[in-house]
Amino acid sequence: MAYDRENIFAKILRGEIPCEIVYEDDHVLAFEDINPQAPVHVLIIPKGAYQNMTEFGRKASAEEKTAFIEAIGTVVNLKRIDKTGYRTIVNNGEDSLQEVPHLHVHVLGGRRLGALLST
Ligand code: 5GP
Repeated sequence: MAYDRENIFAKILRGEIPCEIVYEDDHVLAFEDINPQAPVHVLIIPKGAYQNMTEFGRKASAEEKTAFIEAIGTVVNLKRIDKTGYRTIVNNGEDSLQEVPHLHVHVLGGRRLGALLST
């Protein structure tokens, strides 16, 4: 399936929908999740049009991949959860219940997060 240019995160990247920015560089945007599941819940997205991790792994440049991974550590430090710990989640496709078809990593922390899967 082709990348949907009207997905919410594409609109955020184009500045059509506001977001609370946590971090930004040439390749990456990190912003607060609108419906936080923990005291810290930040979404990190590549600026390129990638639907999921499979596509990103196959098509993104080395520079984009490095920026995406490094942004996790940057956000964790900005949010001061590097010492207490955090969880990263990437939902990919139907079975994962991915809602927004633009690759994003959830960074969650600030409390004891509980079991990895609830069902
Ligand atoms: P997914 O289920 O695709 O892994 O996660 C999508 C996430 O995007 C959800 O945690 C949801 O709260 C968040 N989200 C959906 N729409 C918006 C929005 O318009 N702004 C922000 N900041 N987050 C959003």
